[in-house]
Amino acid sequence: MKSLIPSARTAVGIVGAGPAGLLLSRLLRQSGVDCVVLEARDRAYVEQRQRAGVLEQSTVDVLRACGAGERLDREGLAHDGVELSWNRHRHRIDFPGLTGGKRVWVYAQTEVVKDLIELQLADAAPLLFEAPVGAVTGADTERPTIHYTYAGEQRELECDYVVGCDGYHGVTRQAIPDSELHTSERVYPYSWFGILADVAPSNDELVYAHSPRGFALLSMRSHTVSRLYLQVPNGTDPEAWSDERIWDELDARFAVDGAWKLARGPITQRAVLPLRSSVTEPMRWGRAFLAGDAAHIVPPTGAKGLNLAVADVTVLARAFAKLYADGDASGLDGYSDACLRRVWRAEQFSYFMTTTLHVDPAQSGFDTRLQLSQLDRIAASGHAAAELAENYVGDAL
Ligand SMILES: Cc1cc2nc3c(=O)[nH]c(=O)nc-3n(C[C@H](O)[C@H](O)[C@H](O)COP(=O)(O)OP(=O)(O)OC[C@H]3O[C@@H](n4cnc5c(N)ncnc54)[C@H](O)[C@@H]3O)c2cc1C
Repeated sequence: MKSLIPSARTAVGIVGAGPAGLLLSRLLRQSGVDCVVLEARDRAYVEQRQRAGVLEQSTVDVLRACGAGERLDREGLAHDGVELSWNRHRHRIDFPGLTGGKRVWVYAQTEVVKDLIELQLADAAPLLFEAPVGAVTGADTERPTIHYTYAGEQRELECDYVVGCDGYHGVTRQAIPDSELHTSERVYPYSWFGILADVAPSNDELVYAHSPRGFALLSMRSHTVSRLYLQVPNGTDPEAWSDERIWDELDARFAVDGAWKLARGPITQRAVLPLRSSVTEPMRWGRAFLAGDAAHIVPPTGAKGLNLAVADVTVLARAFAKLYADGDASGLDGYSDACLRRVWRAEQFSYFMTTTLHVDPAQSGFDTRLQLSQLDRIAASGHAAAELAENYVGDAL
């Protein structure tokens, strides 16, 4: 078997094998650009980390075009709408009708990652697990260098360019002087308590519920696995809640007039996720680039995190292809501005969805009436519904 340890030099060094790093590597290899991916965790951990599950059409198009669409087409669930729930009734947002035919897909991030890893390994592309990067140096020189550990040994990877796809807590950002970066951030006064349950989803489409008790989301991973979320106070211990308490609270928040009932089943995973909005800009300095969560975080209410990561690396891969094929660096020079336009749109939409649907512990009765008025407006106005639908399904890439 070919040694997995890469040579000490590559064109593009990629830190992190989440969706951003794996997809970037796949796209670069398809363009004939040499690259290496270094990932801190082991393969099983990366493949099982429960996160996003809604893919925009443009994300699906990119995955299909790079050969990662086969299982997605077989097992992914095409969704033509979502439902909003408030005041004990629901309103459906019809995506194709409001956006000229667009839809989204439900296919878990874990599965996207598994598909991309399988392609990478089948291709014998350099991808090292359990290879934590300690530092990136020389971002402002011709030869930026990644310092990492593998099998107990300190190693160096010299690159033309380094791309930090290493998430919010990654190290690549530290290669850029603080004075060159600006981070805008908002932390929310509530978290999401997410569960996976072995029970068929109680609705064919996602349900976003505003309730006086707080927000709830009904989502799914497949025809047999439900994914559900509850707004909870920051610092909530997920183990302190019994299964019965979780289901009772979900029941109360999804309650509607009529016969609909939430089906219960064994809870197989539970976790609490704090909500944050954050953008670090610019997304490039010297020969270091940031992509995905390394540059920006959205609260998951708008289902944008994974889709933004895919958009960033698609733009970046095209730019590298242009550079290595024609010596044209204009794509790299325009990378940060091009991505930030999409990022800030997604930030605004995610903020809108979050603050419209959650109950801020400090909010007044007046604030609640404004939220309900906004939801009524979406139900009454095709323009308001279309604004939501267009943002949800996302723009073409
Ligand atoms: C707990 C959680 C739940 C989420 N749930 C949702 C959701 O329900 N819906 C939604 O739309 N979005 C959700 N998101 C957001 C979405 O999952 C992310 O936007 C997406 O994972 C971004 O992909 P990425 O590749 O940029 O980063 P990541 O997936 O974070 O990948 C970064 C990778 O870099 C690796 N890494 C970090 N540091 C180093 C280092 N020093 N050396 C080497 N490797 C390193 C990490 O191990 C990781 O594998 C969630 C995020 C989190 C954290």
